[in-house]
Amino acid sequence: MKEILIATGNAHKVEEFEEMLKPLGYHVKSLKDLKEKIEIEETGTTFEENSLIKAQTLHKALGCAVMADDSGIMIDALDGAPGVYSARFLGEDTSYEVKNRYILDAVKGKERGARFVCVIAYVESDGTAHTFRGEVEGEVASDIIGTHGFGYDPIFYYPPYGTTLANVSEEMKNAVSHRGKALKKLVAYLEGEQ
Ligand code: IMP
Repeated sequence: MKEILIATGNAHKVEEFEEMLKPLGYHVKSLKDLKEKIEIEETGTTFEENSLIKAQTLHKALGCAVMADDSGIMIDALDGAPGVYSARFLGEDTSYEVKNRYILDAVKGKERGARFVCVIAYVESDGTAHTFRGEVEGEVASDIIGTHGFGYDPIFYYPPYGTTLANVSEEMKNAVSHRGKALKKLVAYLEGEQ
């Protein structure tokens, strides 16, 4: 069985990757399975750079195949911010209630276009690197709406659903999400390899 390390300690993300990769014969490990903690600084300015920094740092340290993702929200009225700084926006410890209210205020009277972006980097055991990008287009909602999902979902209005991504089921979100789309591209690539 082929082993692959997913560069995250987030149990939910591991599950999502596992679901897609198990049928292809991969045994998925995560950062939680490592004996020692490897510090990685996300110093890149693009999603591609950051996902590659994470995957390549771990590949160099451990020599195995690694996948890492980097994602965030880009808001047109904020010139694409917070982008790669989405988790750190207004401070890592600031609640999403506060971050989301700040964005609602900041876009008042301006264009409301926004997109979620996810890039998955895949570094094969021989060091060959690939990136797969998924995006979902939407708008900043008029208010905080919905209780599902996480992060910026309650202010991300998705026109085809007529509501925010925090107001639909996880299945509905995954079917159209940036992460879902990047994962599908990755799986299509891996299937082509087999
Ligand atoms: P990371 O890719 O795990 O570093 O996370 C990036 C940040 O982007 C998250 O902490 C959220 O703030 C935001 N983000 C990424 N994907 C989503 C999503 O699907 N919904 C809501 N917020 C998201």
